[in-house]
Amino acid sequence: MDRKMPQRGMMEEDMRMDNCIFCKIANGEIPAKTLYEDGQFRVILDLAPATKGHALILPKDHAANLCELSDAQASDALVLAKKMAAQMMEKLQCDGLNLVQNNGETAGQTVMHFHIHLIPRYHNDGQGIHWRPGTSTPEELEAVRKQIVE
Ligand code: AMP
Ligand code: ZN
Repeated sequence: MDRKMPQRGMMEEDMRMDNCIFCKIANGEIPAKTLYEDGQFRVILDLAPATKGHALILPKDHAANLCELSDAQASDALVLAKKMAAQMMEKLQCDGLNLVQNNGETAGQTVMHFHIHLIPRYHNDGQGIHWRPGTSTPEELEAVRKQIVE
């Protein structure tokens, strides 16, 4: 895929990917149910909601995943997630809310434009964001710690 990385001085349109559906939605070229918009982000309702109110935070500039975001985009995205979560919990009167952010096909990412899921949770909603807890030895933990930091 032809990946265009945002660079200083590039036109706004150049930071979008021609064939990226979330670039088109974030920039208003494809309609979506918008909950919030500013110069940097659009927050929309997910078309296939896990629960009532399931929303997606989309940056307007293309980044495929978390690691492609600038530090400023990453911090602004989390501040927006906090604001949206508070508003949704109050207005939807949900019992909890999951933030989910998938990176890579193996991790469940299906649209290769960075997004954060905001998933309101309701008692007995039948949904779950689960993994099976594994096991570890101190040696294994030390080996992986070294692998990451060294
Ligand atoms: P992920 O699996 O983390 O990449 O999530 C992609 C999400 O985008 C899924 O929850 C889809 O239901 C949602 N989605 C895909 N296309 C659209 C669309 N056109 N409008 C709203 N949500 C969409
Ligand atoms: Zn995109």
